[in-house]
Amino acid sequence: MTQENQKQGSKVSKEYKKAADFAEKAFAHIEEHQTPAYPSTYAFWYSYVSRSNEDMVRKVDETLEKTGSLSVYDINQLHDKFLSTEEAEKRRSEQIGNDFEKEMVSVMRLVQQSMSSTDSYCSSLDAAQEQLPEAVSPDKISEIISSLIEQNREMKEMTETLNDGLQKSQNQIHELNAQLAKARDESMRDGLTKLANRRNFDMSLAREIKAARENGTDLTLVLADIDHFKKVNDTYGHQVGDGILQTFASLISNNVKGRDIAARYGGEEFALILPQTNMQAAFHLIERIRKDLEASKLVIKSTGKCIGKVTSSFGMSMLQDGYEAETLIQRADAKLYDAKNNGRNRIEMDTGNAEAA
Ligand code: GH3
Ligand code: MG
Ligand code: MG
Repeated sequence: MTQENQKQGSKVSKEYKKAADFAEKAFAHIEEHQTPAYPSTYAFWYSYVSRSNEDMVRKVDETLEKTGSLSVYDINQLHDKFLSTEEAEKRRSEQIGNDFEKEMVSVMRLVQQSMSSTDSYCSSLDAAQEQLPEAVSPDKISEIISSLIEQNREMKEMTETLNDGLQKSQNQIHELNAQLAKARDESMRDGLTKLANRRNFDMSLAREIKAARENGTDLTLVLADIDHFKKVNDTYGHQVGDGILQTFASLISNNVKGRDIAARYGGEEFALILPQTNMQAAFHLIERIRKDLEASKLVIKSTGKCIGKVTSSFGMSMLQDGYEAETLIQRADAKLYDAKNNGRNRIEMDTGNAEAA
């Protein structure tokens, strides 16, 4: 065995030992927290013990400190938030990028091929031009013409192939661009409800506050939360709970328009950014959403069984001088808290105060 091989071998066995060590620790966590050993939960604990994502490790530690344990549901939530989507998104973008590069290389090859064929065609024409004045016999003239016809035919074939190739590449690049736009759009949306995700919400709120300041227009922020949602989950299961989140999200989408932004803010919390909208106008819009959910006949798809009435509570705040995005959120959240304390299924509005302004 060469020295290089030995070095390689010891590196591999070190890597292997490290992986085995992480695997052992991941199983210890599965046992300790009585998590079913699904591939996804194993992947989750493996990432945790190998500290592949520091944000995720911090969040897990925080949750463990608070509650002492993690349910499968918590694990799935954390996995989706920190591991699966991010990784999948990254892999997908890399794949599209690679495909794009391959396509560009083949276009370049076609262009180079065409350039060299054009060069050789030009050389043939030059040669014919030189030979023609000296060609006295009809046979020589006929030979030159035949060669030119042959060259011309090859050139025509080449041009056709080039056209086909360029057309194919153009289609391929068009398709890749569409995939890229789709991936970009998906990375800004929540997978379950298709509303704007939290990252999108944060960026949109900063952008709309800036626009409202520049144009001197109103801006209202609404935070919404489904009432007693834990009970819905506990009674009917998470899948039914997910269906209700989707229903509520479409009620919201159906009621907003233009520049309004509807987002999934957290688990069963939603947010609406309403530019050029004052509190009164926002109240009418939100009242429609509140009534729509209350009046919805919710049915479990698999059994056809009716679910009792599900309601939602809302807190609203309007942009004032000196408010940061955070101020607007905190004030809407405080009003949402009031709506819960005042009996739920209602809207509470922030009246603003001079001290925060
Ligand atoms: P309140 O009226 O005070 O808002 O009570 P609540 O039960 O709705 O509030 P709580 O914050 O106690 O519970 C929210 C629950 O929402 C807990 C969590 O299990 C559930 N949840 C969060 N995200 C999701 C999700 O994506 N799907 C499902 N099915 N449930 C979720
Ligand atoms: Mg909540
Ligand atoms: Mg709730």
